Amino acid sequence: MLENKNNERTSLEKLGEFGLIDHLTQGFEIAQKSTIKGIGDDAAVLNFTDKKTVLTTDLLVEGIHFDLSYMPLKHLGYKAVMVNLSDVYAMNATATQVTVSIAVSNRFPLEALEELYAGIATACKTFGVDLVGGDTTSSKTGLIISVTALGEVEENKITYRSGAKPNDLLVVSGDLGGAYMGLQVLEREKEVFKVNPNNQPDLEPYSYIVERQLKPEARKDIVALLQQLNVQPTAMIDISDGLSSEILHLCKNSNVGCNLYEDKIPLDPTVISACEEFKVDSTMIALSGGEDYELLFTVDQSAFPKIKGNPNLSIIGHITQASEGAHLITRGETKIPLTAQGWNSFGNE
Ligand SMILES: [Mg+2]
Repeated sequence: MLENKNNERTSLEKLGEFGLIDHLTQGFEIAQKSTIKGIGDDAAVLNFTDKKTVLTTDLLVEGIHFDLSYMPLKHLGYKAVMVNLSDVYAMNATATQVTVSIAVSNRFPLEALEELYAGIATACKTFGVDLVGGDTTSSKTGLIISVTALGEVEENKITYRSGAKPNDLLVVSGDLGGAYMGLQVLEREKEVFKVNPNNQPDLEPYSYIVERQLKPEARKDIVALLQQLNVQPTAMIDISDGLSSEILHLCKNSNVGCNLYEDKIPLDPTVISACEEFKVDSTMIALSGGEDYELLFTVDQSAFPKIKGNPNLSIIGHITQASEGAHLITRGETKIPLTAQGWNSFGNE
């Protein structure tokens, strides 16, 4: 329904594998000092000098991770890079290079792959990362995209999930639940479209949350902000699966507990109104909806003056001893154990 309709269709067989890679990667420029040799030899050559290298990889499969009936290919290319860069930033690192590999069925013409790579190119350019390799091959059915991202970080700046300690503040960037509610809107419109293909959806009132789903932005700016504020997080993780499960990862890896305050969870007004419309609880959506790609981190209490009142950051709780467990403190001041699904309303962990 929202897919770009291309009239021209150039079959992939015409180009062959090598011609295809050359064609898709032309126009990508090198921006990073650490890239000695990008695409064009048997392997890329990188030089991170005295910095530590971080590496992360993700696999996106059509029908499992994305639905092309409402995900434009350009957005998909962009998002595939974003989800990887988000993991690099979650280490407090600078993203420097990506490789992109795709398996594609002959249902996709060249023009479709050009759209996909246009999104990849925009992501690379906007975030200053170099595309230094990849592969293309055929698939029997859908589209599969594998992205690997590399980054660099000074050793003393690396932030693991394991460094949170009791009394640290729990902080999150941006706002939560938007990507999930955007997906609900897109799924609903897809069903409407199936019944009446002439009915073009009006997504305007939902533009913020739809964009959060289709075009997430990895928080490179937050890593820069922390650097600028001279704040070293004690632990950090990106929010791909929902606030609750990411908090539990931090607590488990750091061997601590936490208190999360319901009234401190940042929600955009669009998310609140969409939750009312869909009759779902906005706290539950923030806790268990995914794909916001915000950063969740802990800082020592001494950092409070540096981060308080910052419009990009919300202090949503604090770290406790492991024996106290991980809890949500509701608006009504009820203490409820956090679970990976959000919370356990029956109170048993
Ligand atoms: Mg992650």
